[in-house]
Amino acid sequence: MRVAFIGLGNMGSAMARNLIEAGHEVTVHNRSRAKAEALGPGVRLAESPAEAVRDCEAAVTMLADDTAVQEIVWGESGIVRGLPGGSVHLGCSTISTALARRLAAEHAAIGQKYVSAPVFGRPETAVAKQLLVVAAGEGETVKRCSPVFEAIGRQTFVAGKEPWQANAVKLCGNFMIASMIESFGEAYATLRKAEVGPHLFLDVMAALFGSPVYSNYGRLIADQKFEPAGFALRLGFKDTRLAIETARECASPMPIASLLHDRLLEAIALGMGEIDWSGVAKLSAIHAGL
Ligand code: NAP
Repeated sequence: MRVAFIGLGNMGSAMARNLIEAGHEVTVHNRSRAKAEALGPGVRLAESPAEAVRDCEAAVTMLADDTAVQEIVWGESGIVRGLPGGSVHLGCSTISTALARRLAAEHAAIGQKYVSAPVFGRPETAVAKQLLVVAAGEGETVKRCSPVFEAIGRQTFVAGKEPWQANAVKLCGNFMIASMIESFGEAYATLRKAEVGPHLFLDVMAALFGSPVYSNYGRLIADQKFEPAGFALRLGFKDTRLAIETARECASPMPIASLLHDRLLEAIALGMGEIDWSGVAKLSAIHAGL
């Protein structure tokens, strides 16, 4: 497939590499050119998003947030100016449900397709082609994207016919992970004061819940290994804020999400925005006087 890939951060660089390895014809673009050059000599670089998508069948975006996606899609040389009619913009970034609705409507208005396909998994999971993809959009268009999903992930779930439904799943999923991180922080702080080591507790919890997500985050927090960030705390804050926005749109209160929002905001205020979001657990230790 001819694929354009825009956004070569922690996640995007691994995903683009896997598409190239799977034999797709990939053209890449990144705001800072150095990350595109780092992909290696054989990779086709485009100077702008419009140029990257000019002949593609699918244009993947993996960008930080709503602002970045708006810039890349509707900016001066944005995707909408180059994407051929009938080709699909595949949005993998974690963005708001409101922006996903706007993307679907505005692409459709000029004969382009849009599918939301946010992913679960950290950068090392992306390197290993083991991401979980949650896609939503018109059935036929989602099906057309399956070679991309197969190159980057281990399983794809279809959340519905409206792209924003996939973003709702992603935001609620990250809310579950944030809740788990906060719970680990609180439990470890209490157990440290009870003179029980966090690794013993982690072994018990791993046996109880049996999930790699539990084990991996539990280990990061027990080891207090928050740098380098696999997923920056400022991005985790963004996702919690967006989950609350979606909850508001759906008139569905999420009181724990509101608490997590303030917890992550406090961490940012204390200068922790660039460490891994599991570092929010430091607050529980501080509040326990540790
Ligand atoms: P990252 O390493 O911070 O990369 C962000 C990317 O967005 C970079 O390519 C950056 O370009 C680009 N960007 C930021 N602002 C921009 C702007 N205004 N205009 C153009 N480009 C801009 O982030 P990441 O960890 O790869 O995450 C990317 C997305 O995936 C986010 O939505 C995140 O929530 C989601 N996600 C992350 C993880 C994870 O564990 N890391 C897992 C699942 C989903 P520069 O290189 O020029 O800065």
